[in-house]
Amino acid sequence: MTESDLSQPPTRDLCGTMLVHRRLLNESTTYRSRRAVIENRALQYERGRRSPARTDVVTIPVVVHVVHNPAVPAQNIGDDQVHSQIAVLNRDFRAANPDLDKVPEVWRPLVADARIEFRLAALDPEGEPTDGIVRVPTGRTSFGFDDAVKSSASGGSDPWPTDEYLNVWVCQLGGGLLGYAQFPGGPPQTDGVVILHSAFGTTGTAAPPFDGGRTATHEIGHWLDLYHIWGDDDGACSSDDKVADTPNQADANTGSPVFPHVSCGNGPHGDMFVNYMDYTDDAAMFMFTRGQSKRMDACLEGARASFLVASGALTAPSPSAPSPSAPSPSAAGGPVRDGTAPGGITQQAAMPGPSHWPAPAAAPGVTGTAGTTGATAADAATVPAQPGPDGHGGPGGHAGPDGEVGRLLRDSERLAAEVLKEIRTVIDMVGGGDRPGG
Ligand SMILES: [Zn+2]
Repeated sequence: MTESDLSQPPTRDLCGTMLVHRRLLNESTTYRSRRAVIENRALQYERGRRSPARTDVVTIPVVVHVVHNPAVPAQNIGDDQVHSQIAVLNRDFRAANPDLDKVPEVWRPLVADARIEFRLAALDPEGEPTDGIVRVPTGRTSFGFDDAVKSSASGGSDPWPTDEYLNVWVCQLGGGLLGYAQFPGGPPQTDGVVILHSAFGTTGTAAPPFDGGRTATHEIGHWLDLYHIWGDDDGACSSDDKVADTPNQADANTGSPVFPHVSCGNGPHGDMFVNYMDYTDDAAMFMFTRGQSKRMDACLEGARASFLVASGALTAPSPSAPSPSAPSPSAAGGPVRDGTAPGGITQQAAMPGPSHWPAPAAAPGVTGTAGTTGATAADAATVPAQPGPDGHGGPGGHAGPDGEVGRLLRDSERLAAEVLKEIRTVIDMVGGGDRPGG
C-alpha cells in the first residue's frame, strides 16, 4: 500500500462473496455437502477427466432489481445504465472486450471465450412481457452483505426463480462494499449477485475506478463458481483458486499494477493481475483463463444446469435488447425455449415450476430431489444422470455429456479423497470445521 492508495475510493477488496461463503459453510451442513459435490465435478473438468458437453453459447436470462431510496433519486439508475452493464458482460464473457490487447503477451494463449451471454429477461415468471428491470423503492439508506436486499420483507426485492434467471440486485451498499455473489450450492432464495449502483455499468451513476462494469463480471464469475485468483489465503501462498492455469499468487492486487508483479515464487511472469477475479481497477482487468472457463462449464453443466434450458424467458423478442455492440443472442444458439431440451441435459435440468420454492430448511441434501435448488442430482458424481452421448447438436442443443458411467464412478472414488482434502482445507480456513451443530 502506498500513501496514494489511502486516498483512493473503496477497492475491490470489499467484495463480500467470501464472507457470505464462510458464513454459509459455518451455518449449513447442506451447503458444505453441496460444495463438496460441486468441487468434485469442477475437479473432473479441470483435470480433463470430464469434458464440457456444451459447444454452443448459452444465454442466461437476467433480471435486474433496482432497489432505490426515493430520497436519493440517483439510486434509481436509468435503463441505459443497466443496458451498458449487459453489454460489458457480453463482451467480457466472450473475450470480445476491446481492451483484451492489454493482456501481457505471455498470457494471451490462456484467454478464454467462456461462451456465455446475458440478456435481460423478456418474460417474467408469470409469462408476461417484461424489460427485465424491476424497480423497488426502499426506506433503507443502504444495504450490507446480509442478503436483506434480496427480500421485500427486509426492504429489498424478492428474487425471480433463481434457477431460471440470474438475479442481479443493484442498490446502495454500505461500508465501501462493491458487491457480492452467492456461489452455486447456496440457498435458492438468496441466489444471485448484488452490485453497488455506482459500480454498475459504464454510464449514469457509475464512478471511477469502477465504471467499467467489471464488478458485475467479477461477481458473476463467483456466481459461476470462480474463486478469487489468489485463493483467499491472506498472502500465505498455501491455497489457490483451484484453477491450474492461473499462477498461484499471494494476495489481491489493487489499482493498476505494472507487469510483472511476482509473489509466491511465481516469476518470471508473476501474478495474473489482469484477471477478472483479482481486485484491480476496472480498467486493469481483461480476461478469464481457459481453466476458469472449464470451471464455469462444470458449474453450468452441474449446479446451474437449469440455465441450459431455462430461457423460456427469451421466447418473446425483447424491446430492450442488448446494445448493438453485444453479440446477437439470436445468433448465439442460446438455450431452448420450450423446456424440451434436445440434449442429454434435459433430465437433470427438468426443473419444477418457477413459483415453487422450498424453504431452506426443507432443501434436500445432495442426494435429494434434483432441480429444486440449483444443485442437481447430476452434480453428484455418484449419480451421473446424463443419458447417452451426443447427436443433438442443433441450434440451442447441447450435446449429451459422456455416458461412461463406470469410468465416472471410478474417477469419483479416486477424486473423493482429494475433494475431502480440499473441503477440509476450506473449512479449516474459516475455522468452522469442528464446530458442533454446524
Ligand atoms: Zn470477489
